[in-house]
Amino acid sequence: MSGSVEVFADYTGPVIDRADVVVVGSGPCGAVAAYELALAGKDVVLLEEGPPFTPAEFELDGALSMARTMREGGLRFTTGFVMPTMQAIALGGGSLVNSAICGRCPEFRLQEWADAADLDHTSRRELEPHYDAIAGFLGIAPTPDDVQGPRNLLFRDGCKVLGWSSEPCTRNVVGCRGSGECFTGCRARAKQSMDISYVPAAIRAGARVYTSVQVQRVRSAGRRVTGIEGRVVAPFTGAPGVSVRIEAQAIVLAAGALATPLLLRRSGDLANASKQVGENVQFHPGTSVMGVFPDAVDAVFGATQGYQSLQFLREGFKLETLWAPPSVLAVRMPGVGLELKRKLLDMQRAAIWDAIASCHRSRGSVRERGRSQQPAIRWRFDPHDAEILGRAVWALTQIFFAAGAERVLPGVAGLPDALHSLDEARILERRPARASDLVVASTHVFGSTRMHGDPARGVVDEDGKAHDLDNLYVVDTGVFPGSPAVNPMFTGMALARRAAQTLAGRV
Ligand SMILES: Cc1cc2nc3c(=O)[nH]c(=O)nc-3n(C[C@H](O)[C@H](O)[C@H](O)COP(=O)(O)OP(=O)(O)OC[C@H]3O[C@@H](n4cnc5c(N)ncnc54)[C@H](O)[C@@H]3O)c2cc1C
Ligand code: SF4
Repeated sequence: MSGSVEVFADYTGPVIDRADVVVVGSGPCGAVAAYELALAGKDVVLLEEGPPFTPAEFELDGALSMARTMREGGLRFTTGFVMPTMQAIALGGGSLVNSAICGRCPEFRLQEWADAADLDHTSRRELEPHYDAIAGFLGIAPTPDDVQGPRNLLFRDGCKVLGWSSEPCTRNVVGCRGSGECFTGCRARAKQSMDISYVPAAIRAGARVYTSVQVQRVRSAGRRVTGIEGRVVAPFTGAPGVSVRIEAQAIVLAAGALATPLLLRRSGDLANASKQVGENVQFHPGTSVMGVFPDAVDAVFGATQGYQSLQFLREGFKLETLWAPPSVLAVRMPGVGLELKRKLLDMQRAAIWDAIASCHRSRGSVRERGRSQQPAIRWRFDPHDAEILGRAVWALTQIFFAAGAERVLPGVAGLPDALHSLDEARILERRPARASDLVVASTHVFGSTRMHGDPARGVVDEDGKAHDLDNLYVVDTGVFPGSPAVNPMFTGMALARRAAQTLAGRV
């Protein structure tokens, strides 16, 4: 059986349909769930608010690309502590624009999850078959040396000098050309984003995909959900179109950690007896450090994020290499006007590496922003977590000098723009960073519909089923009970695969 895909231009009148299962959101978690359910013979409808993109539609200019592929043009931010955060709006969700890093959640962190959230079957051993199946399907493998490019290999070399562990990032990429443009969409179609991997596979297994459909409400009666209501929305402008109504035996929400809680709240505060919907929002704040080398680094060549170090995972941070369009990277450079222009010339000799931190103590919430469909995100950056991220800046600085950088731009308020030696940089070691000293951003978010063994303390159970309803599942990264320590996508997909298989046996 082969399914279908509808795009904006196909909608000529109200959309009315029915299915065994409706999946909302085609990001990594929703796409995996839709595929698994279709493969199990279920009649699946997958709904996605964003449009599909072809390589010809990718914009290399960072700002233009963000305006087209990201919610709120990529300019969304938290309040409380102001931090930019990006979520995609596209067929494939975040996988279209992300760096494709696929890390398995370490055993120690899953044990912490189990202890904190009363989980009894979410150990690494229990998730391993799901990680393995997804890795096989997507071709997840270490980034080969021939596409690393100097800026990734310098990171490896610096770690080696310091005696710190480092490794090529494992990514869902087949045939990478090292173009460094993951952020604006992979024109080589090497990155196995969901729109060219799990979504087409779900369609081949019979799923019907409706793009440009914004789900506005989940309908319910007693302990059961019965369907969704929404509308077609025009790509990029969001202009409202015809109505959409789909009935279903079960519903899987995978709209993302910042959208799913709002959908539940708008649907009559569904699944919220615990009062945890939209609470416990956690991010991996990331900060980047730039190093300038004596010779050209040829930074435009190389896999976007090709190398990483897990040396400090237990201390609460992970180190990575990074690349993005120069216009995006330029915001990290000090100075304005002519001074900034001069500094931009350094870009050809520069590498940028980043750190993401687990930040267990830094939490927030997500609520409706007035009558808009956008979230109001409050988040507090805990001082202790900020100190940990400050230590990561010091670690990155040491790697830069070990790799031969002539100066490092730490991007920390109150410090010189550039540090010219390890001795000069020791100020980073001596002075604990404060939250307001750091330039942070985050693309990893979780916790807003967390799983918990105790229905009074969580929204869903370990298999993603809402505690309060018999046939509603949540499978996006909002179900994580805490930080996964590493990049979240792969663990989100593993949990989604397990949840979908459980649901397939019940519907
Ligand atoms: C620039 C960037 C780089 C990143 N790099 C990495 C990386 O290398 N490795 C990694 O592990 N993680 C990375 N991430 C994070 C990763 O992409 C996310 O954790 C992941 O995409 C989350 O998957 P998800 O399925 O939970 O949600 P999403 O990917 O956010 O998908 C949710 C989907 O639901 C749709 N949707 C939302 N609301 C509605 C609605 N009402 N109706 C219909 N559809 C709706 C959205 O449009 C979206 O397509 C990155 C993210 C970004 C933005
Ligand atoms: S580095 Fe380039 S070729 Fe490789 S996955 Fe990213 S965009 Fe595609």
